[in-house]
Amino acid sequence: MTPDDVRKEAASIAQALRRKIERERALGSGELLAAGVAKARREGPSARSNGAAHVRESSPSMPSPSTSATPEPVSVTTVESPAFEPPTPSADPGAFTLSPPEPHVRAPKRSANRDAVAVDDPEELPPFTDDLHPAALAGGRDQLAAVALPILASVAAEARACTKCGLCTTRTQAVPGVGSAATGIVFVGEAPGADEDLRGEPFVGRAGELLTRMIAAMDEKQLIPGVTLSRETVYIANVLKCRPPENRNPLPHEIESCSPYLVRQLEALQPRVICCLGKFAAELLLQLKGTVSSMRGKTYRWRGAKLIVTYHPAYLLRSPSAKRPVWDDLQRLAQEYLTD
Ligand code: SF4
Repeated sequence: MTPDDVRKEAASIAQALRRKIERERALGSGELLAAGVAKARREGPSARSNGAAHVRESSPSMPSPSTSATPEPVSVTTVESPAFEPPTPSADPGAFTLSPPEPHVRAPKRSANRDAVAVDDPEELPPFTDDLHPAALAGGRDQLAAVALPILASVAAEARACTKCGLCTTRTQAVPGVGSAATGIVFVGEAPGADEDLRGEPFVGRAGELLTRMIAAMDEKQLIPGVTLSRETVYIANVLKCRPPENRNPLPHEIESCSPYLVRQLEALQPRVICCLGKFAAELLLQLKGTVSSMRGKTYRWRGAKLIVTYHPAYLLRSPSAKRPVWDDLQRLAQEYLTD
């Protein structure tokens, strides 16, 4: 081997060693190794062979770090492949970031609940109860709304006295629902928050103000011509009638205990279109598991009513960019309301 060959091989070995040390540093285990190499360099060739031997003891495949013009021949020329390959550090430490993991989106499954149907092909949907449109009823939906009133009042009274789950011990008061069956549009949210718990009415906090504005915008834009839309002419309710402490998510046994109240309200209201606000309402009524983004943009059935899914107004407060898709969903709601 010529001196030139030796120099080239030594340079190659030194470069491989530097890469190895950088990788081990990134793993947090290379400091001792680096210190050993530095010590070997400081103490000269005689000690360097000892240092290199020490390194080889801990890592038999580690090459000599020598980069001098007349390097000692070395017998090991390969570097172990590490089990974990960390990302290459950037010159700018601030840029050394890992990409966030892709969100896991579960595809909706076919409902097991015979009341709810979720399919993409409208041809497969069961019949829609088209006589729930105000124009199709003699005297509009007034008669239907009048019949619903005492049932809604009875459900409200029962909910206010209910002790079926532990939330009765932490609530200020139950929050049954507000509005009427006048239009046949029902918005279903998740659970009362602090403002609702104090006032006994759903959607009266900041998220509630946003929902009220959404309904007013539908009315202003005449999305359903001839039908006045307001908090009084639609019905607004939640899956849970009592506030979970600290606004935590509803627990499965709470939903199971409370959902009969919502079902009785819907039976009395005979909605033409139900709009689920957020995943808890959608998962309950459709018996699906999924994210709102995986469930919205489709039309479902809940018994004779059409059902759509959109984001909860509280989510819109945190993510204003979601207002566009929500407006699309409200337009879908209107379109479904107008068509049979
Ligand atoms: S959340 Fe529902 S089931 Fe639980 S106490 Fe309130 S009304 Fe009753």
